[in-house]
Amino acid sequence: MMRKQSKDKKIIFIFDLDGTVTKQETLPLIANAFNVHDEINTLTHQTVSGNIPFVEGFIQRVSILGRFDVNEIRELLSNVELFEGIVDFINVHKDQCAIATGNCSEWVDGIAKRLDCECYSSSAVVEDDKIVKLKSILKKEDIVKSYQARGHQVVFIGDGNNDMEAMREADVSIACGLVHYPANSILSIADYCVFEEVTLLRLLQQINQPQLGNSVVLSCAGIGSRLGLAKTKALIEIEGKKLIHFQLDVFRQVEDLRVVIGYQARSVIEAVLELRKDVLFVYNHDYFQTKTGTSYYLGSRHANEYCVAWDGDLVVHPDDVDKCIDFKGEYVGCSDIVSEDAVFIKTDDKGRVQSFSVENGDYEWSGPAKIKRCNIKYLSTNVYNQIEGLLPLPFLKIRAQDVDTYADYKNVIQFIKSWPNEK
Ligand SMILES: [Mg+2]
Repeated sequence: MMRKQSKDKKIIFIFDLDGTVTKQETLPLIANAFNVHDEINTLTHQTVSGNIPFVEGFIQRVSILGRFDVNEIRELLSNVELFEGIVDFINVHKDQCAIATGNCSEWVDGIAKRLDCECYSSSAVVEDDKIVKLKSILKKEDIVKSYQARGHQVVFIGDGNNDMEAMREADVSIACGLVHYPANSILSIADYCVFEEVTLLRLLQQINQPQLGNSVVLSCAGIGSRLGLAKTKALIEIEGKKLIHFQLDVFRQVEDLRVVIGYQARSVIEAVLELRKDVLFVYNHDYFQTKTGTSYYLGSRHANEYCVAWDGDLVVHPDDVDKCIDFKGEYVGCSDIVSEDAVFIKTDDKGRVQSFSVENGDYEWSGPAKIKRCNIKYLSTNVYNQIEGLLPLPFLKIRAQDVDTYADYKNVIQFIKSWPNEK
């Protein structure tokens, strides 16, 4: 289900409000202030976990909170803390941004006034400063569709179960884990997942306008079938340390680090967050049917000008990592032939990579590679298939090993032990 993107289309960013732009959920905030938190929290919890449909839960919550003065609630909410970087982005790009909240406009007006953009919400009938009944309940997906019908490309940013249909319809969907872990339902369809505001802001800028510099795409979506440890390779342990933690160590200086996830996605996210929170997670939902070339493509969408392809099972000598990232322009990484199940590289007389071969060659294709983002196309096979059409390319000789088989796994342990000052 690759989505079409057109450069001519105006990009519209639609933000959920609660827990995406606000630093706390507003309904529990109201509930606490008016001392009905037990009632509301039970309902909220049931709704968030999907046991009660959103609309039903919402109607019940409004009937509880409708007993209180609209003005008091509005006043309370107008002071709620917001993510200031997101507010700035919205206000700078006001013609491209909108808010879609299921909350009643009568309550959230005060927040909406602080945001210089269109705000779509539910609405209610107010009598004597009390909500007496709901007039309309916003379906966020209708807002997405209406922008698309006007020829726009829609990016939806949300965190909860009630964002799912909108995110499914959107051309690009970003799950936000800024306030709480995003709802499972949206993680099953999201393109991206972020846990820090700085990561979201960087991604929004990248989507809005191509950026210069490098991105590193670390592909950790696969099932690791040849290794036979029933774990995605990022999670296997070498000398008691997860492979993904070795990778995060070597990429400490990389700002735009993108981790592509699929199989055991949640465990990979949790392992990454133990060390670093500003990573961009990119979903390859079709990880079973596709290979690393697909993950590389997905990870490079909206990335910086050059994308370094790095398989999650690739271990590069720490003294060679910087040159893999800093190398000017496109290249193909290769090493001496060490793996059990290698793909080989044949070089031409100018010392460039001429072709790949599964039979023989001068070096082993180990990865990484650096390719211009505009040259990376969708395909369902391997990264080297992605590169084949771009050859000849310079090659970069490095010391590296990957972990395809159990024999490789044992070799990698020796390889890491040989490093100076190994951590
Ligand atoms: Mg929300």
